[in-house]
Amino acid sequence: MGGQQAQMEELQARIRWLEGERERVSWLLEAVSVGFVVMDEHGNVKEFNAQLERMLGFKRGVIGRGPLARLIMQPDIPVFLDHLRRCKFSQMVTTSELRMRNGKKGGLPVELISLPSQNDAEPALYRTAIIDLSKRRASEQKLSDTLESFGTLLDTVEGIVWEVDGESLQVSFVSRYAEKMLGYPLSQWFQEGFWERHIYVDDRERVMQEISRALRERINITIDYRVLTADRRWVWIHDRIGVRLHGGKVNLLGIAVDMTAQKNIEEELDDMRAPLRAMEGYTQLLRNVLADKLGPKELDYFGRIMASAERLDNLIQDVLQYSRVARAPLELKEIDLEKLVAQVISDYPSLQPPGADIQIQKPLLRVLGHEAFLTQCISNLLSNAVKFVAPGVKPKVSVYTKAVGTEIRLFVEDNGIGIAAENQRQIFGIFQRLHPNTTYPGTGIGLAIVQKAVQRMGGRVGVDSALGKGSSFWLQLKRAG
Ligand code: ADP
Repeated sequence: MGGQQAQMEELQARIRWLEGERERVSWLLEAVSVGFVVMDEHGNVKEFNAQLERMLGFKRGVIGRGPLARLIMQPDIPVFLDHLRRCKFSQMVTTSELRMRNGKKGGLPVELISLPSQNDAEPALYRTAIIDLSKRRASEQKLSDTLESFGTLLDTVEGIVWEVDGESLQVSFVSRYAEKMLGYPLSQWFQEGFWERHIYVDDRERVMQEISRALRERINITIDYRVLTADRRWVWIHDRIGVRLHGGKVNLLGIAVDMTAQKNIEEELDDMRAPLRAMEGYTQLLRNVLADKLGPKELDYFGRIMASAERLDNLIQDVLQYSRVARAPLELKEIDLEKLVAQVISDYPSLQPPGADIQIQKPLLRVLGHEAFLTQCISNLLSNAVKFVAPGVKPKVSVYTKAVGTEIRLFVEDNGIGIAAENQRQIFGIFQRLHPNTTYPGTGIGLAIVQKAVQRMGGRVGVDSALGKGSSFWLQLKRAG
């Protein structure tokens, strides 16, 4: 008797445990966003969770018992039957993709994952998880749309986007614009040595050297060179080239734009400087020859001619400078700002006492930059700082740096005339000046050069100022080290 009692108790305890377990599991099945259904060996539904109804957009109780095949889209029913058969005979986890009815055209794409029955004593039961694939499908579709529009995008870039193998220099991709820019059919680009053969002879060695340097040092480079077009013209190419590691292979990726027009303008501008210098020279000569015959009025005229010529020459030089800063090859290095600022000051008497008082607040933190660009920026900022002061005020300038996260901000602070808030943006534009040339001479390009150069170094510029209260111009670059 005692033995039976104990057995009974044990059985009851097991049932309680099982009930608890069942509650826990059914709660779990409701909580996960996966449909779940238990079928018998004929595919009749024995149990299912609410998520399955939600997934298919049915009201509660619609699914009921009966064959699951009722809920499968007609054309996919053979897939479903095959799924059951495979599960039964393989006795392994079986998966299939098919579409279920959800009241919408096309149905809902799902994945069925069925576990075969583990207990031989029970009639075969398939426990099946049903996973909604529509979200995955949508993201797959989005990805392929993105890739497709990326391809179209590359074809709309007004430049040649290209990729070559780092070892063989064999072209693996070239965008359609190549055809338009140089005239050769795209297929020719894939021939061995095609590109190299069409580089202007005098530029070829330099280009190849730069490319091997980029590959060796794994750096990005920018090169200008001439290429022969299909109709036998020379086109100036500005090529930005990056090294890319892809699956253990090194590739070069580039964007080549046509800068022939820009080069021509630069050359013309440069050519304009020669006659201008001749004009200046002859005016000077004429004034010397006529010196004792000239009254103050005539001397003033000569002065004006000379000043205008000089101004025009400055303008040409500044435009050339701007154009070069906009596209000069660029490689960033650690820059010692203390040395660089001291050098700029010693190069320009107008930045030295007694005319100006420039204080460097040491230490100036080191930045990643380009020496020539930074020299240009700092000399432009310092000459503005000492230029734009009220008459009779001695320029006092303070140069210091501050760390801003991983970047360094360099400040050039003056005691000058200041800039009204509404003008602070526009002054960084090309030819933007706030004063007539007679009060403060200049070309209106200095700050545009600063902005362009800093942008090319991956940084940004700004100014804090108030009219009559002095200005604090700053540029921000990556910190070195
Ligand atoms: P430029 O100095 O040749 O006129 P910039 O591009 O360097 O050209 O400057 C544009 C304008 O911004 C200047 O004409 C001046 O009005 C204003 N500006 C520049 N720097 C300062 C400064 N430190 N203080 C006050 N105004 C300035």
